Amino acid sequence: MKRREELILLHRWPYGETSWVLRALGRESGVVSLVAKGARRPKSRVSGALEPCSLSEVVWSAREGAELGTLVGATLLQGWPSVRADLLRSATAMALCEFPLRFRPEGEGNAPWFDHLLAGLRWLDGRTEFTPAASAAVLARFALRLAEECGVGLSLSRCAKCGAELERAALFVGSAGGFYCGECAWESDPSAETLRLLAMGKTPEAGLDELERAEARAVDHLSAGLDIPLKLGALEFLKGLRRGR
Ligand SMILES: [Zn+2]
Repeated sequence: MKRREELILLHRWPYGETSWVLRALGRESGVVSLVAKGARRPKSRVSGALEPCSLSEVVWSAREGAELGTLVGATLLQGWPSVRADLLRSATAMALCEFPLRFRPEGEGNAPWFDHLLAGLRWLDGRTEFTPAASAAVLARFALRLAEECGVGLSLSRCAKCGAELERAALFVGSAGGFYCGECAWESDPSAETLRLLAMGKTPEAGLDELERAEARAVDHLSAGLDIPLKLGALEFLKGLRRGR
């Protein structure tokens, strides 16, 4: 059976002497694994369309029940030139791509994951300025949006313990699905309010350390909500890179 779909390339591994194994995300197909035979040859016509993070129109054939589909053709639709030209942007893009790679089961279609990832890559490519703090903020927001799609979104306006309206979150309690107010919290954590503002789509006035703490809480929350304990390799690399700036 042949399929044609717009895919975001999540990751690729060398396979044999001249091929790639690709993992990609489609709006309908979800995460798919494909072998691209001969795509690492210098004269390959598809190699330019198979760079990680690229959006490409891909044709592949898939046998029922087979683990790997076979790539038939690929046309680059969007290669994100500004992302490619900047290491911090491209490392942030790779970290975004690692979420579906690690968290989505194969073959399960899920349009919002595709749409959020595409929006994230478009945002990264379109910024004129991009700082380490912006990198942490976009990652945290992305994790929070995915958590919402997965049914473990955070309650933002009321204390998760007493129900009082929240002016400022004192503590993030992921297992309670949100935040505690100052009355209910047993300790105070400034990154809780940072996380809440990010979830509300606002831009908190916070330094890199605090944004990274909020980012870590967002990723942990998604990980706990999906019951998939994980460490994102691309995120670890990205954190080192942000420090180097
Ligand atoms: Zn309370």
